Amino acid sequence: MTESHLPKTQVVIIGSGIGGCIAALALAPYYSVTLIDKDAEPQNKVGESLAPAAIRILKQLSLQHLLSDPRHIVSQGTLSYWGSDEPTLIDNLKNPDGFGWHLDRAYFEKQLREACHKANIHCIWPAQLVNSAKTPQGWKITYQHDSKAYQLMSDIVIDASGRHCVFARQQGVARHQFDKLMSIGFTANLNITKNVAVISHTDDSWWYSAPLHQNDLNAGVYQQKRIFSWYAEPHIIKAAQIHTPQALLQRAQHVTGLGALISQLDHSSAALHPMLAANSSKLESCSGNAWFAIGDSAISFDPLSSQGMFNAMASAMQLSELLINNGLNHTDNRVIYQQQVDKIWQSYLAHRALYYKMVS
Ligand SMILES: Cc1cc2nc3c(=O)[nH]c(=O)nc-3n(C[C@H](O)[C@H](O)[C@H](O)COP(=O)(O)OP(=O)(O)OC[C@H]3O[C@@H](n4cnc5c(N)ncnc54)[C@H](O)[C@@H]3O)c2cc1C
Repeated sequence: MTESHLPKTQVVIIGSGIGGCIAALALAPYYSVTLIDKDAEPQNKVGESLAPAAIRILKQLSLQHLLSDPRHIVSQGTLSYWGSDEPTLIDNLKNPDGFGWHLDRAYFEKQLREACHKANIHCIWPAQLVNSAKTPQGWKITYQHDSKAYQLMSDIVIDASGRHCVFARQQGVARHQFDKLMSIGFTANLNITKNVAVISHTDDSWWYSAPLHQNDLNAGVYQQKRIFSWYAEPHIIKAAQIHTPQALLQRAQHVTGLGALISQLDHSSAALHPMLAANSSKLESCSGNAWFAIGDSAISFDPLSSQGMFNAMASAMQLSELLINNGLNHTDNRVIYQQQVDKIWQSYLAHRALYYKMVS
């Protein structure tokens, strides 16, 4: 089919995670937006601690009520054993935005997808990006839906596909990794309720634990589900030969700040989660000829920062503001957006260096 006969949209967004949905919702009052995702339903992704400042962005989009759902736990703060066996409580009491949240992540993404439907955004899922080509009429996007290939034309493309940055990779853009950090974790039920996260540093690694929403409560017996994650270089995790949740649990119980939680744990409920990349990485270029990358697709942070979801939201809003104020095709958009991302990245690197220096 020739380009002029294909369905047309002004903005196509690849990926309906937090970044993709926020960009779609911000742009929809101004432009025709098509939002695609390879998954029919949001998957259970890792990462649940949402920074307090996220409420500002949700308020801008009149979506603050999403966080009032009881599935999301209000976070009372973080107990940090970072370079000390004595805990520091980071309690958000002095934070002007208030407390943060431990999200039911899949449910939050479902809420955002529903908001996109309500805003009459053209949503297609499951729809996997297959191919992209720049033509004089705009981007020709090929995606797979129900085992068939479809095409559409779009003035601009937003890559919100996460660390895979599928669209940017198709354009041949390199991604730079700044470290090799990996994570492995387990979830388990506890007989106590503690709505605080715990961070603890060990000689060559660090641990994180946080409460999760519980879907499968046993009638009459309250147990709180928690995640325990171990972060280290891949050779350290591989050498530990963790094949069962018990193997990881045994390591966790000796970690400062985790012992008391582990002692309240229902061992039979422990479930191991696979190893995952948790490195800091960045696309060489986060924008190009009528395309932009947001969220993890542009830059991904060390989970120590708990800023990944907020950055997905914030970069979606920054880009949307530019596209709304300047128009889709303004040549400055690309340069200004790249400068904005670079500034965030530099300040993130400085902050990260400061944190790791405290324990080196
Ligand atoms: C171990 C770990 C712990 C973390 N903990 C936290 C935390 O506590 N707090 C925090 O804020 N952040 C945390 N993060 C980071 C956070 O999860 C990410 O920053 C966040 O998911 C980024 O959102 P996003 O929308 O940019 O990308 P994603 O959430 O990755 O969404 C990308 C979407 O694109 C879709 N997609 C991918 N490929 C295609 C394709 N070919 N076609 C169509 N669709 C496609 C995917 O299905 C997905 O829905 C953690 C990360 C890791 C690895």
